[in-house]
Amino acid sequence: MHSETTSQAVVKTGGLKVVTDVVCPFCGTLCDDIKVVMDGDRIVDTLNACVIGNEKFKSAQAGHRIMAPMERVDDSTEFGKVSWDYAIEKSAQILANAKRPLMYGWSSTSCEAQEVGNELAEVCGAVTDNTASVCHGPSVMAIQTVGAPCCTLGEVKNRADLIIYWGCNPVHAHPRHMSRYSTYPRGFFTERGFKDRTVVVVDPRPTDTAKQAEIHVQVEQGKDYELLDALRTAVRGEDIPEVVGGVKKADIVKLAELAKSKKFGLLFFGMGVTQTTGKHRNIDIAISFVADMNKYTKFSLIAMRGHYNVTGSGQVMCWQSGFPFAMDFSRGYPRYNPGETAANDILQRQECDAALVIASDPGAHFPYSSMKWYAQIPTIAIDPHETPTTGVSKIVMPSTIVGVEEAGTAYRMDNVPIRCRKVTDAPAGILSDAEILSRILVRVKELKAEKKAGGA
Ligand code: SF4
Repeated sequence: MHSETTSQAVVKTGGLKVVTDVVCPFCGTLCDDIKVVMDGDRIVDTLNACVIGNEKFKSAQAGHRIMAPMERVDDSTEFGKVSWDYAIEKSAQILANAKRPLMYGWSSTSCEAQEVGNELAEVCGAVTDNTASVCHGPSVMAIQTVGAPCCTLGEVKNRADLIIYWGCNPVHAHPRHMSRYSTYPRGFFTERGFKDRTVVVVDPRPTDTAKQAEIHVQVEQGKDYELLDALRTAVRGEDIPEVVGGVKKADIVKLAELAKSKKFGLLFFGMGVTQTTGKHRNIDIAISFVADMNKYTKFSLIAMRGHYNVTGSGQVMCWQSGFPFAMDFSRGYPRYNPGETAANDILQRQECDAALVIASDPGAHFPYSSMKWYAQIPTIAIDPHETPTTGVSKIVMPSTIVGVEEAGTAYRMDNVPIRCRKVTDAPAGILSDAEILSRILVRVKELKAEKKAGGA
């Protein structure tokens, strides 16, 4: 870790230190050109980062940082500080004694931590799920089912002359996506930047991204499948109804002809497609549209992944066990059936008797009924900061921030692995996610072995 930190170019200006070539560990764009301005060990500013990325770096010094392991006092809202040994032992006991523990999150930590977490899930016979479960799970399912033409964001920057953003709003969710890769940068074959590209936004709302596009297709809410189907038909030159999904036939035909006339088109899609009516079927037909388009020109698609390493979590789960999320080890081998084995399915049916949450905040995003059960069972939360989830967990352990206080690997939304660097030291006594999980894993294995020996 130390050598990775010191290998970065460090420039001194007026007593401040500038750490260069830093990767932003916030969204799936994983911008790798960030400069972090340090005053001693304190992060005072960033250069190149968007407003969200800037806040992520500064969150290292946030007031709501957790500084020591804690245990919730019975059913109160009070927490008492405990030692690391106590927190690890208690967590191991909870997981080793549970019949069907749930492990959830994984998307804002490194692949190295995810790897240990998957082994822990297997040893515990747990259900383990990542945040794709509530965002791009349908994309992953569709891509696993039918495959998908894909490319890197570097190819997009250098070659793409048609950009379609469908059901996503990068101006707010991935603020540098358009400036780094898709719309504004000058690429090898797109020398004039914005002037060499046509940007189309398909969205029911006039979003800030739509305002920057040449064409805004205002599809009716929940009619994405119908519109994609009509677009495929129009691309083939066949007849379509006068209006589909609220969009006029003439506009659909115009978009189909525009797409066919371009050298390289890219379909970026977000939760406006994955989490609306049709879900993975929407992605299925989006993939079919892109596959059709390759008969006329080059075309590809990329999911606008949110958490900076949700893509990595899917990758690591797939290397280790073959499934990208909602994985159930309760039968001793991995099984996968979203709708039955995803975190919300398990919580709402009250099927788990313990839970571990790491690198995510279901308390802020899950339905009340899920969190109501979470609050009633023995739970463990691992997070650098206080969150709605840590507030209702039994054991809370603070961790370092990957990409700020810890090096680690993450996968960008185009499935390119990127090494996130360490910028500064974590507060004294705080461990990395990988270390916390490794210590729990060792102890769970011992407890399971003792139990087996005792029962033999
Ligand atoms: Fe960070 Fe995403 Fe902003 Fe890039 S676009 S600086 S990765 S939050």
